[in-house]
Amino acid sequence: MNVLVINAGSSSLKYQLLNPETGDLLAKGLCERIGLDGKFTYKPMVEGKEGVKAIDIPMPTHSEAIQATLNALIDPVNGVIASMDEIDAVGHRVLHGGEKFSAPVLLTDEVLSTVEECIPLAPLHNPANIIGIKACAAVLGDKVPQVGIFDTAFHQTMPPKAYMYAIPYEYYQNDSLRRYGAHGTSHRYVTKRCAEILGRNDLKIVSCHLGNGSSLAAVDCGKSVDTSMGLTPLAGLPMGTRSGDMDCGVLEFIMKKYNMGIEEAVNMLNKKSGMLGLSGVSSDFRDLEAGAKAGNERCALALEVFEYDVRKLIGSYAAAMGGVDVIVFTAGVGENGPSTRANCLKGLEFLGVKVDPEKNNVRGKECIISTDDSKVLAMVIPTNEELMIAMDTMDVVKSL
Ligand code: ADP
Repeated sequence: MNVLVINAGSSSLKYQLLNPETGDLLAKGLCERIGLDGKFTYKPMVEGKEGVKAIDIPMPTHSEAIQATLNALIDPVNGVIASMDEIDAVGHRVLHGGEKFSAPVLLTDEVLSTVEECIPLAPLHNPANIIGIKACAAVLGDKVPQVGIFDTAFHQTMPPKAYMYAIPYEYYQNDSLRRYGAHGTSHRYVTKRCAEILGRNDLKIVSCHLGNGSSLAAVDCGKSVDTSMGLTPLAGLPMGTRSGDMDCGVLEFIMKKYNMGIEEAVNMLNKKSGMLGLSGVSSDFRDLEAGAKAGNERCALALEVFEYDVRKLIGSYAAAMGGVDVIVFTAGVGENGPSTRANCLKGLEFLGVKVDPEKNNVRGKECIISTDDSKVLAMVIPTNEELMIAMDTMDVVKSL
């Protein structure tokens, strides 16, 4: 079975063609600058086939982007499948499913209008996801089933005490304002892998997705019971350019003193804060590590703030679950940043975590990084959201 996985943004569209039964990736790529000058990238993963990088292809809308993707996939010379008939289903990443979706779902017209109802909760992302879904339906026709996989779905198992904001209850009742979380597909994938690797389904896991965007999840027996992102992905840890949690009074102060409107203020919190704001140098952890090494104190400070917040959150999730068996690191920094990992875990020895510096000197592969006598396991598990989406899509299609 082949599943085309689509992650549609407002002017971009990432794709992968995978076989969820074998885990094989056949091809991947990216359509950028949709609606502008259109750049198309295609990377076949089959030997002897050649890809293209950022070539000009007119893509006035997402439909042309999907068409360009299909043309590349079935190209007689460099394609990886013989015809469109070899695409059995499409899996779409959708950011926000509100309280409506707690599992992957077949995208019927009715379901699509429910996804549209969730637009107020994710006004930037959901419309782009919907455009991607409609473009696929237009190009592939209704014979190819399409499945929606929501970033928020995995966290729908959180209890009210974890997701309610302590603001007047009406905002929850009338406007559905609450914590939803994000990165759900990633947290689900790595915690599922962790359970498979260790052969146990009774684990209390703190899943640390540390990338450009970062979030932690407390996962008890396979169920998310708490997570750090909130109504939006601005909450929780400080990130590449996002502030993470902060006293709302700071916003009031800045807006009043600098005569800032709400849009400018929120843009500042989303785009100019976090690691970039603290360091004044970069949002990229590699740059921060290099800066700190070269003696830049603000780069060192940015890393310290981040690592301290991760450590505090691990501690609080251990408290939330009444213990922790495994701490899993994933995503760009979690998979490739040994020093960040070690610093996040420093001071957690009292919980029973002991990092093995040699084992921790690893990048991008599944492994245990704690000592043999560590009571709590620390692990690196590279995430694979596209494979999870493809597997979920397959499960939904097979159940039809
Ligand atoms: P996104 O949230 O955009 O998917 P990623 O998960 O790709 O982000 O993570 C990007 C982050 O991972 C960047 O800050 C980058 O610096 C960091 N990263 C990648 N490789 C390394 C490395 N070798 N050491 C430290 N950080 C790294």
